[in-house]
Amino acid sequence: MTETGNKSFDRIRAVFEEAYRIGLGYTDQGKVADYIPELAKANRDDFGISMIDGDLRTLSLGDCEKRFSMQSVSKVILLCAALLHCGFEETFSHVMMEPSGDSFNSILKLDLASNRPYNPMINAGAIETASLISGDLSFGDLLGYARELCADPEICLDEAVYASESKTGDRNRAIVYLLKSKGVLMDEPERTLDLYFRMCSLSVNARSLANLGLVIANGGLDPFTGRRLIPTEHVRTLKVIMFTCGMYDYSGKFSVRVGVPSKSGVGGGLVCAAKGPMGIGLYGPSLDAFGNSKAAVKAMEHISRELELHSFY
Ligand code: GLN
Repeated sequence: MTETGNKSFDRIRAVFEEAYRIGLGYTDQGKVADYIPELAKANRDDFGISMIDGDLRTLSLGDCEKRFSMQSVSKVILLCAALLHCGFEETFSHVMMEPSGDSFNSILKLDLASNRPYNPMINAGAIETASLISGDLSFGDLLGYARELCADPEICLDEAVYASESKTGDRNRAIVYLLKSKGVLMDEPERTLDLYFRMCSLSVNARSLANLGLVIANGGLDPFTGRRLIPTEHVRTLKVIMFTCGMYDYSGKFSVRVGVPSKSGVGGGLVCAAKGPMGIGLYGPSLDAFGNSKAAVKAMEHISRELELHSFY
């Protein structure tokens, strides 16, 4: 019997239903991202929470089937792929593991303080991570890995988001060329950036993110097949980096208030790998000033408090 298995499912359901209700009350308090024009088409009232636990019990509330682009949640997959392909030492000789305290697309510290981006969960770090693998792995390889991690064979490239971001991603272009100018980019800039943009444009739903959260929470094992998708030695690294850096410059507050390894994206997605194990995927495109889903953050505060999911007690 797993840890969450000891909690009555009625109790879990009641907590999630209340969290959903709380989250809905916040959707009108944020804004959908519009710096990638295609993302501005999202409906800011949408909200969904999906949960799956180690006994494969599931819950779906609200807009759980609706597809949206993964955006920065894909940084988790890029990091897993880089760790698998290059190993721990090589990966972290190119990117640090420190919270940056700056916004996700900041270029400041990269230029002033370091040749290595602060961590793989911000744009500069994920672009560097992409450059470690883009010469050897194709987008098809990464897509296959994403489908496995999310137990979702329907994940595909959202062509409209990909085109929109490729066209307007000047800040990311600045980052990739700054990395190149420092001599630290490991592949050709346009190929690196293309992989980064494609990964951001993967089309998922809250259910796919719940499955991803469960694989991470489950120590890297696919709960459906028992297959190992992430090596044990990488799972702790991943969880700690999600915990300390996954919510951009809101990571500290989120860790105090929620305390669950998580990663958000400006498409409105949030993946949480909670103890139990329990995977939680949320979708709410109305964002706060940090680029995190307003409703999802509020819902997770409630869920973590009521089900005692905080990593530290
Ligand atoms: N594709 C987005 C960007 O590069 C991802 C950022 C995010 O989700 N925070 O700007």
